[in-house]
Amino acid sequence: MRSTMQETPLSISTLLRYGTTVYGSSQVHTWTGDGARSATYADVGRRAAQLAHALRGLGVTGDDRVATFMWNNQEHLEAYLAVPSMGAVLHPLNIRLFADQIAYIADHAQDKVVIVDASVLPVFAAILPRVPSIQHVIVSGPFDADLLAGGAAQVHSYDELLAGQPEEFDWVEVDETEAAALCYTSGTTGHPKGVAYSHRSAYLHSMQLVMSEASGFTERDRVLLIVPMFHVMAWGLPWAAMIVGASLVMPDRFLAPAPLTQVIETLRPTVGAGVPTVWTGLLAHLDAPAGQPHDVSSLRETLIGGAACPLSLMRGLEERHGIRVVHAWGMTETSPIGSVAREPAGVTGEDVWGYRTTQGRLVASVQARLAGPDGSIVARDGVAVGELEVRGPWVTGSYYLDHDDSRFHDGWLRTGDVGRISPEGYLTLTDRAKDVIKSGGEWISSVELENALMSHPAVAEAAVIGVPDEKWSERPLASVVLRSGATATVEELRAHLATSVAAWQLPERWAFIEEVPKTSVGKFDKKVIRARYAEGELDVVLLTR
Ligand code: AMP
Repeated sequence: MRSTMQETPLSISTLLRYGTTVYGSSQVHTWTGDGARSATYADVGRRAAQLAHALRGLGVTGDDRVATFMWNNQEHLEAYLAVPSMGAVLHPLNIRLFADQIAYIADHAQDKVVIVDASVLPVFAAILPRVPSIQHVIVSGPFDADLLAGGAAQVHSYDELLAGQPEEFDWVEVDETEAAALCYTSGTTGHPKGVAYSHRSAYLHSMQLVMSEASGFTERDRVLLIVPMFHVMAWGLPWAAMIVGASLVMPDRFLAPAPLTQVIETLRPTVGAGVPTVWTGLLAHLDAPAGQPHDVSSLRETLIGGAACPLSLMRGLEERHGIRVVHAWGMTETSPIGSVAREPAGVTGEDVWGYRTTQGRLVASVQARLAGPDGSIVARDGVAVGELEVRGPWVTGSYYLDHDDSRFHDGWLRTGDVGRISPEGYLTLTDRAKDVIKSGGEWISSVELENALMSHPAVAEAAVIGVPDEKWSERPLASVVLRSGATATVEELRAHLATSVAAWQLPERWAFIEEVPKTSVGKFDKKVIRARYAEGELDVVLLTR
C-alpha cells in the first residue's frame, strides 16, 4: 500500500526560509581582528536573495557550480544559503591545500563562479589562470584589482554586486535528490575525490545534528564555528543553525590561540566546534601562567572531531576551564556525523570517560558494521576488530565523476577506519587501516600509543608511525613534541607508556621533533613523518627491548 503522505522535497531553501524568518533576530557575528561585525538572520536572508539575483545576472543557471574560497564569515553563510536554494551547487574550496590540488579540484568540479575573500585573493590569483572554467570572480572585502588583471574571468566586488538587488528571491523548488553542495576529501593519498551532498541528505543530516544526543544546540546558543566551512561543510552546522536559530560566531582568519581567546571573551559563544589541533593550542594558551587569566566561562561545551581527541585534552578543557568536550566521528563521505560520544544515562564519575573517549554512539540513521581482513563481517561485541563500513541517507554512494569500486563493499562505504563496536553501539577506532602497525602479525594501535604519550605532562603532541623492522616486519616509532620549557627523557616516556601499554607494544624507536606535521585541516600528517624517516631526516634514539 502506498502511503498517503505528501512528498514535499527536503531542501536547503526550506531551511533558509525558516531560519531567516522564524529566527530572524538570531545573529551571525564575524570577527574582524579587533572587534566584530554582526547581522541578523533576517539580514542574511535578504542578502542571500540579493546574492542569488546577482548570480543569476552573471548567468548562473541549472546546476552550475559556484565555488567559495573563504574563511568562516557572514558572506560565506550567505553563499551557503543562496547557492543551493537557487538550484546551483555550492562548492567550498579548501584554501589551505597546495595550489596544484586546488586547481585540480576547481577544474574537476568545473567551477563557473568563485566567491573569494580579499584576504586570500593573492593565493587565489595564482590558481585562477589554471582553471579555464571560471568565468566570474566575486571578491568580498576591499581588494587590489591588479592582482587579477589580464585574466579571462570577469572580476566583481561582492558588495557592489549585491547593492540594489531585490531582497526577495523566488527560491527554486528542486528535486531533493539533486546536489546542493560539493566537497572534496582532504586527499592524503591520490587525487582528492568529490562528494556531492543532496538537498535531502543535507536536510536530514541537519536535523540529526541538532538532536539533543548530538549537538543539542538551541536558539539560546551562540556557536563558535572553528571548523572551516570548506571542511565537510563545517560539519553541516551553518544549515543546522537555521533549524533551531542558534547564532553563529565566525572567527574569519583569526584562528591562532590568542585571537581565538579574544573572540571567546568578547563574543561569548556558548558552544563550539573544531578539530583537536585547534583546541590543543587553545588549551595550552589558556593554561599558560603568564598574564591575566582568561575568561572563557561562556563556553559550556564543544564538539571535537575530525581526528581522535585525546583524553588529556578532554580533561584539560573540562576540569581546568569548564568546557565539556563532546567527541564525534565522521568523514567527508558521511556529511559527516556518524557517531557522537555522550555517556549513557546512569553512568557517572570516572566511568563516563570510558564512553566519552570513544568515537561515540552511532546515530540512528547511520548503519555500521565491521569487516575482517577477508571481507567477512565480524561481531559487534566490543572486542572483535575490523574495518568500519557504513551506509545511510547521508553517506555517499559513489564519488563525483570518479567512482571507485574498491571503496565500497556490497553498497556499504568502506571507511578505512579500523575499530570495534560495542553491543550498545559505541564505536572505538583503533586506527586508520593504513596506520595500523603490524608487529609480528599482531596489531598495535598507533592511536592508543599517541593518547598514552600525550597524557604525560611534558608532552604537547605525539605521533606514532609503523616503520620496517627486520624481525617483526613493522615496529612503532614515537615522534614526540615536548611542551615549551618541559623536559623528559626517552627512558622516562617509555616508563610512562609501560604503565598503560603492553610491554611488547612499547616503541624502541623515538624521535623528538619540533612539531607534528599537519594536513590542511589540521590532522596529523603521518605520511610526512614516514617520508622523513625513510629519508633518514629524523634523529632517532634506539632503545633496546
Ligand atoms: P575527513 O573526510 O577529512 O573529515 O577525514 C575523515 C577521517 O578522519 C575519518 O575516516 C577518520 O579516519 C578520521 N576521524 C574523524 N573523526 C575522528 C575521530 N573522532 N576519531 C578518530 N578519527 C577520526
